Amino acid sequence: LFAKPCDFYFATQKLDMLPPVGGPEVAFAGRSNVGKSSLINALTGRNRLARASSEPGRTKQLNFFNLGGDVSLVDMPGYGYAKASKQVKEDWQGLMFAYLRGRPSLNRVFLLLDARIELKKADQEAMTLLDHAAVVYQLVLTKCDQVKPAVLAAKRREVDETIRKHPAAYPFSIWTSSETGSGIPLLRAEVARLIDA
Ligand code: GDP
Repeated sequence: LFAKPCDFYFATQKLDMLPPVGGPEVAFAGRSNVGKSSLINALTGRNRLARASSEPGRTKQLNFFNLGGDVSLVDMPGYGYAKASKQVKEDWQGLMFAYLRGRPSLNRVFLLLDARIELKKADQEAMTLLDHAAVVYQLVLTKCDQVKPAVLAAKRREVDETIRKHPAAYPFSIWTSSETGSGIPLLRAEVARLIDA
């Protein structure tokens, strides 16, 4: 895993056009600008990957990447655009919910949160959606290099408190920086363990 080619292979905005359910999948979700592309790049060591998914037109899609073997990484469209209309928000939630509910091969969602800022309403809504879809999700804090240790300690308590309130949230969070690489080996190990590859 991760050593093999990892290429963009499928993108869709329509549920009836998802690739057939096959091998295990892990998905990455988060507010736009949370650092999702950077994290996926750091995780896979392939710059080409997530750059592809931020090309115009692809940002609203589910992007499927092959991690080697029959394992897929799914890059979910970023949420929480300040200017997004109610309709756009509802469309996003509808697509996500339908995908999450109808994907038995989905092992876990990694939900990214920016360590520098407080939890936003859109993050709370995404967690509630995942709770309702009954998909296990693990919180991954991003940009930790930008936060002082004391602030990070307080943030950890806040995140633990949040996890306790959400039934489908995995009990342990992962704290990362795509800039320094901290937490990336742990995240990689977690993905590898999950898909048993
Ligand atoms: P996306 O919209 O979620 O895919 O976010 P990007 O990966 O494009 O990152 C958004 C911005 O945050 C970019 O300017 C990145 O350089 C920056 N960024 C992402 N990850 C980190 C990190 O770990 N540390 C720091 N300092 N900046 C980061």
